Order: sequence, then C-alpha cells, then structure tokens
Amino acid sequence: TRTKEPKPDWLRIKLTTGDSYKEIKDMMRTKTLHTVCEEARCPNIYECWANRTATFMILGDICTRACRFCAVKTGLPTELDLQEPERVAEAAEQMGLRHCVVTSVARDDLKDGGASIFAATIHAIRARMPLCSVEVLIPDFLGDEASLRIVMDAKPDILNHNIETVERLSDRVRAKAKYSRSLELLRRAKEMQPQIPTKSSIMLGVGETIEEVHQAMDDLRAVDVDILTLGQYLQPSSTHLNVERYVHPDEFAELKIVGKSKGFSSVESAPLVRSSYHAHEQVKTAAAA
Ligand code: SF4
Ligand code: SF4
Repeated sequence: TRTKEPKPDWLRIKLTTGDSYKEIKDMMRTKTLHTVCEEARCPNIYECWANRTATFMILGDICTRACRFCAVKTGLPTELDLQEPERVAEAAEQMGLRHCVVTSVARDDLKDGGASIFAATIHAIRARMPLCSVEVLIPDFLGDEASLRIVMDAKPDILNHNIETVERLSDRVRAKAKYSRSLELLRRAKEMQPQIPTKSSIMLGVGETIEEVHQAMDDLRAVDVDILTLGQYLQPSSTHLNVERYVHPDEFAELKIVGKSKGFSSVESAPLVRSSYHAHEQVKTAAAA
C-alpha cells in the first residue's frame, strides 16, 4: 500500500526567508560548501539557518551509495578536497555557530571512508572556535574499526550514526548498509570513548510498526546510545521510496515518552524533526545526564 493522502497540515511549513538565511546561502556558494540542509531539502532550513545552525556535508556531494529515501546524487565521487576542513571551519566561524554538525556522503571508494577528513574537520573547527560543540554524523565506514577510531580519537562532542529504520526494513530502505553493522559501530564508539554521547535517528512512515520502533529503541539502548531523534519520512521526489503513512504528532509525542522511559538522555520526536534538529540542546542534555 502506498499513501495517497494529501500531506497533513502538520507537515506544511511556513516559508520565512529572513536576512540571515540569504546571507548564509550566499556564503555557502562562495566557499563551495555543501549543506545537508539544502541537499536533503530539510524542512527546518529556515528555522535552523536563522538560528545560525547548519549541517555541513563534507567529502563532496556525490555518494557511492543510493539509499531509496535520500535526495543526494549517486555516482563516482570527485577527488579528495584536502582544503575542505579549513573552509568548513571558516564558514562555521563566520556564522558564529554554537553547534556545528558535520556529516558526509558514503565514500566507499576511499580506504578510510573519509574518516581522516572528519578528524581534520573536527580539529579545524576546534582551532578556530574552541567553544563551538561539534557533532559528527558518520557513515558506517563499511564496518572498518580503524576508520571509526580515527574519528573517535578526534573527540567529537557527539557521535551520531543513523540506523534510519527498523531491522525488518533496513535492507530495503538503505543501500549497502546493515542494521547489525550500524549497531556494532555505535557499540564500538561507546567502548572507545565512553564519555562521548552517541546518537541515532529513525525516520517513521516507511512501513514500520510501532512495536518494531520500540524494538529498535531497545536495540539502541542495548549498545548504550544516549540520544534518539524520530521524524516523519518525506519523499524527496516521486522516484524515491513511497511514504506509507503520515504518523500523527500525538504518536510522536507518545514515542518520546516511551524513549525517555527506556533511558535515552534526550529524545526529539515530532514530524519535522531531523537528525540535527535542536542538536545544540542535546549537547547540554547529554552533558547533564
Ligand atoms: Fe540543517 Fe539539520 Fe536544521 Fe535540517 S535540521 S536545516 S539538516 S541543521
Ligand atoms: Fe544518502 Fe545513503 Fe549516500 Fe547517506 S549513504 S548520502 S543516506 S545515499
């Protein structure tokens, strides 16, 4: 079944393009930087950019994988840009960010999957902005432990890796990724640096049952994941994975309560929540937990 329902009211977004939005958009172009906010057509872009929060996408804008929910282009990536960490740090400084999220496409063509560029970006931001917290949202590095260690040794403030969906749907929804491999990555990250909060995200509305979501929460808690985000999947174009269901805001609110009762230090759960939404608050919550 696929949903033919029109988008419910709670998913309609007010478009307010303030000055800081335009200013940041211009800066991204002049620095040839990519943001997930733009590439993934995130519904929170106006709010986040007006609040000077952004998620940078490093290692180019072409991904070696093709997940069925994702709007990022697939193909053979261009060569590695070693100046990118410095440009991200400069942009973060110009934006006066308090919390900077850094993520990447999957670079299965690189030996370390791009881990050393993640580490260099963390160091570059720290050098310019010692008070800015840095969250990395990393790919699975094909399960390579040495690559993960390179990132963990750079000591991000939050280590984020998304399982995206429940176990049964994982192979259908994500390309080349494995549910168990993602859990193993989160487990190892905690083992390597127990003081660094770990985080993961699930998108709802791709055919999962609520019981399966509860199970995924248990699986994440079993590897000590601290922070959980839950949001509605929105189809980026008609060629992408169909939306099976629009989950009501009350159900999201219910899941937040369930998540908290399972021991997550922070749960963001609402239709328009995305992985990096309100991430700045999560640093504080995790630190206090
Ligand atoms: Fe960007 Fe994340 Fe905010 Fe979306 S939620 S606009 S990806 S910072
Ligand atoms: Fe998108 Fe999948 Fe590539 Fe991540 S790995 S950028 S979700 S296609």
